[in-house]
Amino acid sequence: MRHRSGCVDDVEVLVVGAGQAGLAAAYHLQRRGLSDFVVLDANPAAGGAWQHRWPSLTLGRTHRIHDLPAFPLRDVDPDEPASTVVGRYYAAYEERFSLPVRRPVRVRSVTSPDGPDGPLLVATDHGDWRTRRLVSATGTWDRPWWPAYPGRGLFRGRQLHTHDFTSVEDFRGQHVVVVGGGTSAVQFLLELEGVATTTWVTRRPPVFADRPFDEEWGREVERRVTDRLRRGLPPDSVVASTGLATTPAVRAAQAKGVLDAREMFTSITEDGVRFADGTQVRADAILWATGFRAALDHLAPLHLREPGGGIVVDGTTVVRDPRIQLVGYGPSASTLGATRAGRTAALTALAGLEASRQPAA
Ligand SMILES: Cc1cc2nc3c(=O)[nH]c(=O)nc-3n(C[C@H](O)[C@H](O)[C@H](O)COP(=O)(O)OP(=O)(O)OC[C@H]3O[C@@H](n4cnc5c(N)ncnc54)[C@H](O)[C@@H]3O)c2cc1C
Repeated sequence: MRHRSGCVDDVEVLVVGAGQAGLAAAYHLQRRGLSDFVVLDANPAAGGAWQHRWPSLTLGRTHRIHDLPAFPLRDVDPDEPASTVVGRYYAAYEERFSLPVRRPVRVRSVTSPDGPDGPLLVATDHGDWRTRRLVSATGTWDRPWWPAYPGRGLFRGRQLHTHDFTSVEDFRGQHVVVVGGGTSAVQFLLELEGVATTTWVTRRPPVFADRPFDEEWGREVERRVTDRLRRGLPPDSVVASTGLATTPAVRAAQAKGVLDAREMFTSITEDGVRFADGTQVRADAILWATGFRAALDHLAPLHLREPGGGIVVDGTTVVRDPRIQLVGYGPSASTLGATRAGRTAALTALAGLEASRQPAA
């Protein structure tokens, strides 16, 4: 049972984050009979990062939301915003399995005051916890990646990141420079058509995949990302591993020239962007669809990163500190991968607890 000593709560396993990965892990911990665990989530409501996605990202426009274990997502309206559908689904899931989720609680840092064999100390904005195993399932939404370009501070128009996008209506009648070669950029360009004029810029020419996004494709992507992590490198951008989906809407937009990308600009001016050849494009807004990085600041005190910047995992176990399971990271950064990784993390954490209870030979 959970107990308090001093001002610290003690648990056997602590899960950080109640998105797809954290909920899947929590389900499997509970299913295997563990009651002494808690899930801490920084968001005000159920839904993980999905609750923050823009209203026009309907369920039908997502790649696909994979089912959480033992409770499929049923009877959905593809025209309903994914934020609403997933928020409702995760809330129902937490209730159905009585998962011990506490929110809003933000984990600030994880330290190891008693050395590698002792418990971990988890400091949050609502008190501290001690735990023997930690499942870190914090996703990427809290770490928007916004690359630096000269002149960024000069621009008099609006600049925003995918993280803060709400509606194309904000850009009606404007000229928008859309930055980035990923799925979000493509979705923005499709939505902006007829509302605003656009210039699309990407660092590398966009790659549209002309193969189906089937299971074999998924396995290939996982192999590629896993190989990077094994080499101590951080995970690539999603699109570097997947390519862009060539949907009928994409094909139609390509035919109309809506998806003609040009090279990245070299600087930002007061009223637009400038390219290497000296040409300029005037813009009312710059939309940075430049992706996200893993939100792992809370683990920084444990020095888990390799010289290459990545964290090496074996399955979901952090090689530098096997008390920690990392889920929703690298190959498991999709709803399917996160669901599978949540299970692996729960079983590995439980096996680790069991092994630590065996008397030394
Ligand atoms: C725009 C966009 C569209 C996407 N579309 C798809 C799609 O169609 N299909 C698909 O499979 N995947 C999609 N993805 C990837 C998607 O993010 C993952 O599939 C999955 O939802 C991530 O789940 P997660 O549990 O890892 O993270 P999240 O859903 O991000 O959940 C992490 C949770 O951890 C919490 N948290 C973070 N830091 C802390 C902290 N320090 N302390 C406490 N709590 C913390 C957050 O508040 C959040 O609730 C998309 C991603 C983006 C950005």
